[in-house]
Amino acid sequence: MNNPMQSHPINLIQILQHAANYHGNVEVVTRRVEDDKISRSNYASIYKRTCKLANALKKLGVQPSKPIGTIAWNTDKHIETWYAIVGQGAICHTINPRLYAEQIKYIINHAKDHIIFIDLTFLDTFTQISEELETVEHVIVMCDQEHMPELSIKQKVHCYETLIGQYNSEFSWTSVEEKTISSLCYTSGTTGNPKGVGYTHRSNMLHAMVATQKDALNIHGEQSILMIVPMFHANSWGLAYAAPMVGAKLVLPGAKLDGVSIYELLSTEQVTYSAAVPTVWNMLLPHLKNNNFTLPDLDEVFVGGSAVPRFMVRTFDIDYDVTIIHAWGMTETSPMGTVCRLLPEMKSLPYEEQLDIRCTQGRPPFGVELKITGEDGEELARDGVAFGNLHIRGPWVVDYYYGQDTPATDQNGWFDTGDIASIDPNGYMKITDRAKDVIKSGGEWISSVDLENAAMAHEAVFLSAVIGVPHPKWEERPLLIVKLVEGQAAIQEEIIEFLSTRVVKWWLPDEVIFVDEIPLTATGKINKLALRNQYIQ
Ligand code: ADP
Repeated sequence: MNNPMQSHPINLIQILQHAANYHGNVEVVTRRVEDDKISRSNYASIYKRTCKLANALKKLGVQPSKPIGTIAWNTDKHIETWYAIVGQGAICHTINPRLYAEQIKYIINHAKDHIIFIDLTFLDTFTQISEELETVEHVIVMCDQEHMPELSIKQKVHCYETLIGQYNSEFSWTSVEEKTISSLCYTSGTTGNPKGVGYTHRSNMLHAMVATQKDALNIHGEQSILMIVPMFHANSWGLAYAAPMVGAKLVLPGAKLDGVSIYELLSTEQVTYSAAVPTVWNMLLPHLKNNNFTLPDLDEVFVGGSAVPRFMVRTFDIDYDVTIIHAWGMTETSPMGTVCRLLPEMKSLPYEEQLDIRCTQGRPPFGVELKITGEDGEELARDGVAFGNLHIRGPWVVDYYYGQDTPATDQNGWFDTGDIASIDPNGYMKITDRAKDVIKSGGEWISSVDLENAAMAHEAVFLSAVIGVPHPKWEERPLLIVKLVEGQAAIQEEIIEFLSTRVVKWWLPDEVIFVDEIPLTATGKINKLALRNQYIQ
């Protein structure tokens, strides 16, 4: 029998083509990396420039399935670069510039990138490692001729604007098999070397389609979206696909992620929706408070990457009338794993009970399955009490790490996330800890995440981190490390007293250490490995 339906091949470039055809005038606004000025483009223009770049790349020898690296901020040029690469079946390898130079060198060599796109900000780091890059032939600096620096490196150097200026704005896209890799992202590698996760045209397209669901990321055409989550961090959580898919306005913050710059874009671009890790909102809140600023346009803020503190959800609700949507995911899960939205019947619960639910990591969207297992590997009850290893499977979850022959999943396709969680009867998942961060005291588990969140509720605490330190009697005990809000003071006894009303007595840290800075990882999370190295004596 003939196919009843067309086997229309999926290529991610179709998203940008659709945006150009049906939302051509919708703005894409960028804070330029070159000079911090605001530049305005739209989907029609972005598409034309993408075609020019695709022609240029073809001339430079782009081949299907060959990776091209980007070390870049969220900008219009980075969007063009993504689509120009993936549209012709090559692999767009987004590199996290916050990694150490050694790690960047490792992943470029491991991926075998042959071209690197780079923002001016990162040229110093790149120059340090350029000699040892084994496969890179071309470097494209993402600026215009006016801002083009002199570079003496062994690779052939090009200026982005000059390069694309030489080509025409039509391109005939190749047909790609939908399961070919479109994009590549390495995990930050807090333990061991970073591992590559290769997303496919199919997985990214399905992820973007689900992201637009109201019950998932709720991306739609009436929004003005400030995309803070970096394009090098798990696909900017799918926003760089979902926003053009529905024709939402995109606002791209470039290199400026401080509270002042973020607030400026939120207000001047009438931003209604944004997404970022809690650290970013933590920087914005004092700026809003100190200046009595309001957020009249902002409606929803999508927060994930680490647990959202309860005070943050409450402050955004009560002081700014902005809803925080908490979500959980990993580089390995594209990243959408769960999204926390209240079920209709929960909206009449008392506010504090609603907050209890909204601070969980939420429920999986259609397509994703979750389960928790005990030490024997048996599935545990979904009663909201039992907690164990969290496993996930679905069409946008990793199967094999890039270049590896052994699967990252078990024989039934489940991927072990390395997180410890519970799942309640309504399907709401709550992360207790990362398996390697959980503290074992007297044979019982203490959640470092819960303790950190409890400490964050104290008004003098800007950031808190909890690690387990060895103890002769109890095996491990929690140590609380605190960075105070500028100008605030607090002493150990006061913080412990504060915590004693929020957690059980045996969870209370034996000691609180006050520090000027808490080290963060390349993805903006607390770097517990560095803290353990520093404090475990
Ligand atoms: P990396 O593993 O390199 O730090 P990822 O972004 O892939 O970078 O991190 C995924 C991990 O981040 C998850 O396994 C989980 O431990 C943590 N995480 C992500 N979102 C949340 C959340 N909402 N609450 C608690 N932890 C989270």
